[in-house]
Amino acid sequence: MTNEFTQFIETTVAQTKALEKAYRLAEWEAAATGTPEANRRQQEAHAAYLRLLADPERHATAKRLHESGKAADPLTARQLKIIYLVTGENQQDEATIQQLTRLEAEIREQYYNFRGEVGGKKLSDNELDGILTKSRDSAEVQAVWEASKQVGAQVADQVRELARVRNAAARAQGFRDHFQRSLTLNEIDEGELLALFAQLEAATHEPFARLKAEVDAARAAHFGIPVSALRPWHYGDRFFQSPPEMGEVDMDALFADKDPVQLATTTYDGLGMDVRDILARSDLYAREGKNQHAFCTDIDREGDVRTLNNLEPNHRWNETLLHELGHAVYDKYLDYSLPWLLRTPPHTLSTEAIALMMGSLTYDREWLEQIAGVPAAEAAKVSAAARVRERALRLIFTRWVLVMTNFERLLYADPGRDLDTLWWDLVEKYQRLTRPEGRRRRPSERSGGSAPDWAAKIHVALYPVYYQNYEIGHLVAAQLQDRLRQHAGGIVGRKAAGQWLVERFFRPGASEEWAAHVKTATGEALTPQYFVDALG
Ligand SMILES: [Zn+2]
Repeated sequence: MTNEFTQFIETTVAQTKALEKAYRLAEWEAAATGTPEANRRQQEAHAAYLRLLADPERHATAKRLHESGKAADPLTARQLKIIYLVTGENQQDEATIQQLTRLEAEIREQYYNFRGEVGGKKLSDNELDGILTKSRDSAEVQAVWEASKQVGAQVADQVRELARVRNAAARAQGFRDHFQRSLTLNEIDEGELLALFAQLEAATHEPFARLKAEVDAARAAHFGIPVSALRPWHYGDRFFQSPPEMGEVDMDALFADKDPVQLATTTYDGLGMDVRDILARSDLYAREGKNQHAFCTDIDREGDVRTLNNLEPNHRWNETLLHELGHAVYDKYLDYSLPWLLRTPPHTLSTEAIALMMGSLTYDREWLEQIAGVPAAEAAKVSAAARVRERALRLIFTRWVLVMTNFERLLYADPGRDLDTLWWDLVEKYQRLTRPEGRRRRPSERSGGSAPDWAAKIHVALYPVYYQNYEIGHLVAAQLQDRLRQHAGGIVGRKAAGQWLVERFFRPGASEEWAAHVKTATGEALTPQYFVDALG
């Protein structure tokens, strides 16, 4: 029996290891160069990797061994469960794979090539965002915001179709719909998630209402209009995911003459974590053709950890580099004597928690003074403003995630329902934005007078049922920050904090599922209390 267990794991690992590494390398090449050949090689490597995981026989064996409960020890049991979950996510027949790949590719192409049209002029996403952030002209931001939603109308029918195909695949496996399948195979209990989000809704209701009133007053003044005339295009962001600039301290100015690489190295040195080898393997600066975003990748689970960035001396890229290196040190300081399958964080949200916590140091008073070298005279003012901004970010982001997660739940429950109205019902409820007149469906008309604005959000189509990971990551980060304060007095410049993180959070890898891991590491099951307290 034991032999069958270990043999199955060994065979699976031997095959997975090679294909995963080939895929990670191809993905890195494609991001670094952006050439059509590199993109094609990435697609091929990805397909080969997915084909391995789609093997129904392997999944059936993993399921049988996992459910037998007869693994010799907890680490063997955990490895079997991981194979069961990962292959479970990839169980679809060839026809479904074809349909999904085709729909996703068609939709992706439309998002990537989309240029919102304003007055006959086509604008890129960056140009649209730039105008929304800076403009003081109400008519202009309305036109730009409406242009940014044009892509929604283009793809809406295909996104509904995609949801139906995903649902059919989920039902073939006995799940209610894709929402439930996706959470279950990512070890998130749907009931617990909804209860947690209801708690967050209640806890942020009042503080968000107060913040929103402040934002409204500032935005009305910015545009020279009454508060009652504010519409979603007045908030400096296509979806009101983050706070508009409200005349606080210019964070970018603090970083204009500083080197992000040096600040990050000093930050991690302070924790006793060496990031020099990671930086040496990383691709740090912008180039023609290179991916314009940032990510971190663990190529082989044997120490080849790299990040891709497009560094500039401003706040955003300092935060991003600290964030990506947070993912990287997690991978670097894992226990490499663990079995290969467990040499990874237990969940995306676990590594996201570390990355978010490290990135948010750029709002931390100690970090601003000790690492960024903000002069003492300015430090108090800057850190007070940074704190206000960070709190606004968390509150606004939380209300936005409530929209996304509740929308996705209802989308997969019935892709054919009136999603246009549903979207604005949720936006009004959670984000307290006023639904624009053109987006209101009057009961008397079956079509027209409404718009599929939900489909303008790329995550709904291409990164489904994912947003909850960021929110839970924030909650885990807040709980960790509390423990680090108790244990080491904080994070910045404290080797004891780094040691605590490595030993309690990083080293165990995926040997426990994420929720149990949080409890073992912090001595307490995940609670939203620390996150909520920090918003007070
Ligand atoms: Zn991240």
